[in-house]
This record gives sequence, C-alpha cells and structure tokens, in this order.
Amino acid sequence: MSAIDRLPPLREVIATHELSAKKSLGQNFLLDLNLTAKIARQAGDLTGCDVLEVGPGPGGLTRGLLAEGARRVLAVEKDPRCMAALAEISAEYPDRLEVINADALDLDVTAHLTPPIRVVANLPYNVGTELLVRWLTPAQWPPFWDSLTLMFQKEVAERIVAQPGSKTYGRLAILSQWRAEAKIVMTLPPEAFTPPPKIHSAVVHLTRRETPLFPADYKVLSRVVAAAFNQRRKMLRASLKGVAPNIEEVLKEAGLEPTLRAEQVSIEGFCALARAVAGKG
Ligand code: SAM
Repeated sequence: MSAIDRLPPLREVIATHELSAKKSLGQNFLLDLNLTAKIARQAGDLTGCDVLEVGPGPGGLTRGLLAEGARRVLAVEKDPRCMAALAEISAEYPDRLEVINADALDLDVTAHLTPPIRVVANLPYNVGTELLVRWLTPAQWPPFWDSLTLMFQKEVAERIVAQPGSKTYGRLAILSQWRAEAKIVMTLPPEAFTPPPKIHSAVVHLTRRETPLFPADYKVLSRVVAAAFNQRRKMLRASLKGVAPNIEEVLKEAGLEPTLRAEQVSIEGFCALARAVAGKG
C-alpha cells in the first residue's frame, strides 16, 4: 500500500483533530484527493524540486504534492490546530515533509529550501495577493522560486492574466506578466471546497522570466503604473502630471500618444515610459 493510501480520508482527519473551518483564517478546505493531485500536477514536474506550500491546512494538497513526487515539501501553516494532522503525513513520508507553524508573511523560507524551488498554495485570497506581490518584487531578480501555482478568487486570477484593452487590466497584470508568464490553468466551483466560499476560484501558474520582459527600473515602473491606473479613465497626459513636469514630452519620447488611457498601454509601452521618466529624473 502506498503512503497516500495508508493515511485516513481527510474528512476523518478533520473530525479527529477537530479542525472546524475558521473564517478568520480563510479556511475553505479541499477534501477530494483526486482534485488536490490535479492541482499539484499544474505545478509541473515536481521530481527533483523542493516545494514551498503555504497554508496546508489539514494537508490535502500536501498529500498531492508528495504523491506527485516532490523531493521535499516545506509547509508553512498559521493554525496550530493543523500540526497534529500534518505530523501524520510527515510520518508517512520520512524526511520529505517539514512543517512550520508560522505566519507565512513573517517567515524567511529561503533558509529551509534548496533550488530548484516551486511554490504552491491555496491561501486566503488577501494573503495570496500580498505574497504574490512580494514574490514578484524581491530585492534581487531572479527570485528564489522557479514557478508559483496559486489559488485565487477567479476575479483576481483574471486580473493577473489580463491583456491591455480589458477592464481587468491593471497593476497586477503588468507586474505579474512583466516578470513571469502567467496563465489560468484551472477553475473551480464553490462546491469544490468545504465549506464552500461564495465565489468561484481559479489556479494561476506563473513561471518566472530570467529577465523581465522589457528593461525598466522596477520602482519607476511601479510609480508610473500606479499613477496611470489610479485615474484610469483619464488620459495619460492628465493622470501622469505628477510623475514628470514635462509629461507630454516624456510620453512622446516613449512613443505614446498623450491622449491614451492607462488600459490601452501595453507592458512594453509602460516600460518605455518608465525608461523615459528615469532618463529625465
Ligand atoms: N491548503 C489547504 C486545502 O487546500 O485544503 C487549506 C486551504 S485554506 C483556503 C487556507 C489555509 O491557509 C488555512 O489552513 C489557513 O489556516 C492558512 N493560513 C491563513 N493565513 C495564513 C498565513 N498568513 N500564513 C500561513 N498560513 C495561513
């Protein structure tokens, strides 16, 4: 019998360890092991990789990652009630699962992992977005991870992969796609989770680019994009007034019409604009 078959069903684990879902921790668990294996497969070939799993909960996805051949899994879970359930999984996979009871927002994980590293998480959506932005904006590029496979609210997933011209195109799309290739690889209905959330969910897979898509200084790019989308209905010459005193000239240098609106500008256009702004700075 394989290790995954020796472990009790997740409903039993939840009953034994009294893991009633806590709203404050965004707990909506995946209990179908076929589904968690499918999500684990979206992270690509895990053999020979360390995997950082954030928010393992009772461990459904953790089991999927181990069964799919991850060399090692580091699971970071805030809820101390989950520790005993996760220890049962560690016992079945000696030396392959390390569990840390901590808030993922406070922990430096790099000391615990050996490259190549893939990140997989089914997290509360607010924590997921904050971590995504942090993972995309480290002090040094390339980052510690090769890929991120993350569950989001479907609406957030759509913002990550959005293209210019769409209503969902904005800061998250530009940041994500500038430094990574991002695609939605699965969508899940509320009933996939226990308890079911109110919204649909989607898994986004991001593969890091060795170098960003177009050259730009991240800080300048971020400032320009924030200013443009903070007033997304205005033309660039108005929304970017505060970014450079001679903004019409800077836009021209970047090859952009001053009458464009933020959502009409490609990532290439924003990078050209960031370079033009930096040149004047
Ligand atoms: N991965 C499990 C699954 O798919 O069934 C649980 C998913 S549940 C949506 C989110 C998990 O993240 C919960 O177990 C919750 O306790 C944990 N969590 C919430 N905030 C966290 C944080 N800041 N750091 C680490 N874990 C967190």
